[in-house]
Amino acid sequence: MTFHTPEVPINGQLNNIEAVPRPAVWADVPDDHWNNWRWQLANRLNTADEFARFINLTDEEIEGLTADDKFRVDVTPYFASLIDPDDPTCPIRRQVLPLGRELRAFDGMMDDSLAEDAHSPVPGLVHRYPDRVLMLLTTQCASYCRYCTRSRIVGDPRVTFSRVDFDAQIAYLQRTPQVRDVLLSGGDPLNIAPRQLEYVLTRLREVEHIEIIRIGSRVPVFLPQRITDEFVDLIRQFHPLWMNVHINHPREITPELSRALAKLADAGVPLGNQSVLLAGINDSVDIQRELVHKLVRNRVRPYYLYQCDLVTGAGHFRTTVSKGIEIIEGLRGHTSGYAVPTYVVDAPGGGGKIPVGPNYVISQAPGKVVLRNYEGYITTYVEPDDYDPNAIKAKEDEVERRQHPGQEGIHGLLRGEGTSIKPEGFDEVHRR
Ligand SMILES: *Cc1c(COP(=O)(O)O)cnc(C)c1O
Repeated sequence: MTFHTPEVPINGQLNNIEAVPRPAVWADVPDDHWNNWRWQLANRLNTADEFARFINLTDEEIEGLTADDKFRVDVTPYFASLIDPDDPTCPIRRQVLPLGRELRAFDGMMDDSLAEDAHSPVPGLVHRYPDRVLMLLTTQCASYCRYCTRSRIVGDPRVTFSRVDFDAQIAYLQRTPQVRDVLLSGGDPLNIAPRQLEYVLTRLREVEHIEIIRIGSRVPVFLPQRITDEFVDLIRQFHPLWMNVHINHPREITPELSRALAKLADAGVPLGNQSVLLAGINDSVDIQRELVHKLVRNRVRPYYLYQCDLVTGAGHFRTTVSKGIEIIEGLRGHTSGYAVPTYVVDAPGGGGKIPVGPNYVISQAPGKVVLRNYEGYITTYVEPDDYDPNAIKAKEDEVERRQHPGQEGIHGLLRGEGTSIKPEGFDEVHRR
């Protein structure tokens, strides 16, 4: 089979372009089945026998697929149809088919590397940052990524969330007025029944202090058929509603995905992308450049590029952090600022996302900052000597809206609210 992904057309003529040809196993499936998201979900693949019908599996893939204690495998026929059957390094294939080595432990490995459970005031709600929360609506996804950061709960139908949990989550939000941004995640929030999603969105919109709602979903990638006109008509009632999708490789951007993204963008949903830096899949400046260019052509703004978490099952996907810095060095300045994501390490142990990148400040002295650009050009910015940083006085209401005590961090030090931040046990150690 020759393998190709048609280019995304520029003029928005998405309806005329051909879809990726289906492998022979699905050649006889009627289009109205193939294009139906319920059919796609009902016909997901999960066993070695099913994959072997159209993929030349390697011994290590068979080992991964037949392991008893593996993280759940499920792949929609649509996403599986993008796999190159003869290339074991195919970036689509590597994201969803397990390898034997994924069961191997590694240094630093944890089940809950972001300490989400410790930050959870009610089941399914992670409140780590002052003004925003992560709200997990389900543990189920349309397909499962091998490097899942939440594999400790994701995929397990016995630990999913229900209406009772949603009500408890919303009750917490009602009594927590500093939350202005709710991020729906999971599992995949677009994988719950449409009526349940409508219920959650309606209840969230009743909470006055919630300003924006965000959905984090990989459904457009695994199951673009789900993004129907009815679906976008439902979610457009809940603006301002933002969505982050999860695309790691340019080959995922098919005509089907482009159409789904266009529907969402046309419904006024600002789109972002979160990708994970994955060894052997997208750890290359050239692939990342192609990816971000294809994203902005589809009206998707690259948002985060994540360093792969220290999570069980993801050991062999990890790169060095320096690879991520090199990728940002290869993007910033070389291409549109809109196309450059923020590279982040999600702090092991639960500190949240930490942006990492090349250094552009070369040196400083009072009155001068020496900077370098992407080409290595070095320049001096001369600072004003009559600048008054207090010209805008903190207004009363701004003081009131401040984040709650203890989370001011380094910015608090700069503002004069304390002069130090001490590691645990610091005072005891020094009271010798
Ligand atoms: C990523 C994340 C958020 C959102 O972070 P932003 O930087 O605002 O996108 C919120 N809560 C948790 C627990 C997160 O992991």
